[in-house]
Amino acid sequence: MKFMFSRRIQNTPKSFIREILKVTENPDVISFAGGLPNPSLIDTEGIGKAASDIIKSDGRSALQYSTTEGYEPLRQYIADRYAKRYNLDVSADEILITNGSQQCLDLLGKVFINNGDSVLMEKPGYLGAIQSFSLYEPEFHSVSLQDDGPDTGELSSVLSEELPAFFYGIPNSQNPTGITYSDEKRKEVAEILNEAEVPFIEDDAYGELRFDGKAIKPVKYYMPEAGIMTGSFSKIFSPGMRLGWVCATPEVLDKVIIAKQASDLHSNYLSQRILYQYLEENNIDTHIEKIRAEYKKRADLMVKTIRSELPPEITCTQPEGGMFVWLRFPDNMSSMKIFEKASEKNVVILPGMPFYVDGKGDKTARLNFTNSDEEEIKYGIGVVADVIKELYY
Ligand code: PMP
Repeated sequence: MKFMFSRRIQNTPKSFIREILKVTENPDVISFAGGLPNPSLIDTEGIGKAASDIIKSDGRSALQYSTTEGYEPLRQYIADRYAKRYNLDVSADEILITNGSQQCLDLLGKVFINNGDSVLMEKPGYLGAIQSFSLYEPEFHSVSLQDDGPDTGELSSVLSEELPAFFYGIPNSQNPTGITYSDEKRKEVAEILNEAEVPFIEDDAYGELRFDGKAIKPVKYYMPEAGIMTGSFSKIFSPGMRLGWVCATPEVLDKVIIAKQASDLHSNYLSQRILYQYLEENNIDTHIEKIRAEYKKRADLMVKTIRSELPPEITCTQPEGGMFVWLRFPDNMSSMKIFEKASEKNVVILPGMPFYVDGKGDKTARLNFTNSDEEEIKYGIGVVADVIKELYY
């Protein structure tokens, strides 16, 4: 049988990270390559109790089909949290619960991208978004990310030549770089996009993980109509429960609801009910505080070790939250070579290429700090330093 696969699936590569993660299943490997929340920070006891309570008290409803939009009290909770944390005035009607925030990217791709449309990303940009959008066969363009957010001169100049379906970005603790947009940049980006009438898809997977706990107003605050936010419970509750959401005006959300209905009817309703039960029985802010403190400790140690062990020509970002540090190598080095040599010694880093839509990025790498303990961070960075010395000095 010769299967005639669609052009869209033939042109979409397998996720490079998923392929690398197969290697890291070996328990002897220290992996800085993935992006897993630390399993010790999943509140198994609290989630277990919430699951048992909801099945006992309302199991027949919690295990039934439900609405596409999602469990109303949970949507209200998300809207209230936006108001409290971000001063955003949104109602429960502007929230749709999704199967993780990754599904938002697929649905928004479906809703906004016609074959051949241009899509604007950060450079470097989130690999999972590149993969999701690729299925709708856009033409990718990207805008360089500086230490305080997108290069707004470049953004204006790209927009003067191309009118993309949207600009997708991650203003808080970006994946892969760990960079956070400054207040100033948020306002500027909103102003430029508003003027050009280009929507901003604001992926806020890491907003709750700002180490100092202080929230910065999202870009959507400055462009309430054209701003579309996506959020996730993966990093503060559990990734396996697959719960995320889209926040957009009813006009946009209506279209996303149609796409979601066609795709999976609704997100796992039991997961939604367990989460809401958990939120009623526990103080999630106390739990998030614990995660922030633990991740900050690891991030600080990783940056300190990189700065003391690696040659000074290699620079790294100092994340204010999230899960990643970004390395930039000088021109004579190759992250792919460093990755290969370090992997032989059971330490895995993630080369930067898959985060670039223009095929560049060999002078960069992403390192995850949340899923390794302090000893592993010190030892693993030491191995990377040894490999660089062997290769280049
Ligand atoms: N957006 C970003 C920026 C991410 O890093 C991730 C997870 N790696 C996601 C979305 C998807 O996460 P989830 O589907 O678990 O919410």
